[in-house]
Amino acid sequence: MKHLPPTVLSLLGCLCAQTPSIDEHTLAAHVRFLSSDLLEGRGVGTRGDELARLYLATQLQSFGLQPGNGDQWQQPVPILGITSEVTAPLTARSSGGEASFTAPDDYTAVAGGPAAEVAWRDAELVFVGYGITAPEQRWDDFGGTDVRGKVLLVMNNDPADDPERFAGKTRLYYGRWSYKFEEAARRGALGAIVIHTNDSAGYPFQVIQASHGRENFWLPFERQPALEVRSWCSEDTARTLCTLGGHDLDELRARAELGNQPPVPLGVTLGLGLRNIPREIASANVLGVLPGSDANLRDQYVVVTAHFDHLGIGKPRNGDAIYNGAVDNASGCAGLLALAQACSRLPTAPRRSLLFLAVTAEESGLLGSQFYTQHPTVPKQQLVANFNVDGLNIWGRTEDLEFIGFGKNSLTALAETVAAAAGRRIEPDSNPDLGLFYRSDHFNFARIGVPAAYFKAGRDFVDRPADRRRMKASYTTVHYHQPSDELADWWNLGGAVADLDLLLACLRTCADADEPPTWTAGDEFEALR
Ligand SMILES: [Zn+2]
Repeated sequence: MKHLPPTVLSLLGCLCAQTPSIDEHTLAAHVRFLSSDLLEGRGVGTRGDELARLYLATQLQSFGLQPGNGDQWQQPVPILGITSEVTAPLTARSSGGEASFTAPDDYTAVAGGPAAEVAWRDAELVFVGYGITAPEQRWDDFGGTDVRGKVLLVMNNDPADDPERFAGKTRLYYGRWSYKFEEAARRGALGAIVIHTNDSAGYPFQVIQASHGRENFWLPFERQPALEVRSWCSEDTARTLCTLGGHDLDELRARAELGNQPPVPLGVTLGLGLRNIPREIASANVLGVLPGSDANLRDQYVVVTAHFDHLGIGKPRNGDAIYNGAVDNASGCAGLLALAQACSRLPTAPRRSLLFLAVTAEESGLLGSQFYTQHPTVPKQQLVANFNVDGLNIWGRTEDLEFIGFGKNSLTALAETVAAAAGRRIEPDSNPDLGLFYRSDHFNFARIGVPAAYFKAGRDFVDRPADRRRMKASYTTVHYHQPSDELADWWNLGGAVADLDLLLACLRTCADADEPPTWTAGDEFEALR
């Protein structure tokens, strides 16, 4: 190089500077720190949480970014933990008789709001089908019926059989249990009981039973509608409740499938007692900004998110009680930091501003991102897109990259164009029935109308595809949400580097485009923009 004339040298320097590279060593180093046993699994409100935040903030500062919350690198997030105890078991009464149920064998019940005590004596039970109001699907399970002060018995999932409705087998938000509780609360119901079936949940009732009695996490209740109780029941319990009122569960469900059927008062009243013990928890989001280079677009922000929290210290497995969350989501934080560093090294910043936002309490119910989107640091109309990173590819390079929420907004087409230029391709969700679009932090951005994208590792491995597919599958079955989600020698971050290079190109393309991204016409989030 030393024989080249200075002009060529500076040109080369310039070209190199235009393609800042993300490397495996840097990613591995971030993961090593964040997933270290010393951070004790980054449980919300713990010392590990504080250490992770300090690390993230100091890294963003070292890249030359600006603090994202005024002159602060953190946005405090108050969290309320509530542990519920059943003080009087669920009972049901009708003119035909009585029944009582045992938790968690027959049902589960947790607080759905801030009340310290719940005492139901004669709460009226109403069957509301799927409990969905979806104007764009011309579907309404409530009609004009007032369900204030009632308890709703509701089916999980959404009507799936008709491909013309509710995106066929793809689970929309209407199909998630959290939607059922939220819609019941918006309608002023006292409580809601979701009917569990293996098919509609995708997991057995034991999974729900396991969460009974555990602490639940909320943002502090301000003025948002709340229920007194959030409950699930087994299919047998639902059957008993219906029969007690002289109804047949199967008939009620078949009728609900027709759509636009009014709610059915079951002629059953419920009794239940709950004591709720609150705990205040302090955490924070970490955020840094790279200001845009275009004076006209600088007020618009493209947001990169990754949650930094994990499950903390829990039940020991094989003598290890620290849930390190190396893939979930120390790796995503490493990705966020690498993207921030790469963008900060560009000779000219992208036209729009970039907001790098590491959020807390994802594992507790996406609370950090919910808090941010309810209390954004810039007016929400200025947030134009969100790219979320939750888990990097640790198994090696792939031809493809999975796009969760494929086709929902114009970021799909943008990603396809960018991927094609890199000789790769974008694939739709491989498990559309899991509703992954609603299960990480980008969802909260979608809920305030911000077009959001969430990439997952691809499946079409370049080298030794069969082996690597097996290793990837075993991550989900063996290490996911276990103390063994740890950094290991066998990790191959070559795929993560390639995926992040692609994400970097998407980010820059989005931030430099003349027009911001838009939702696909008719999408469930279009009206929120
Ligand atoms: Zn995660």
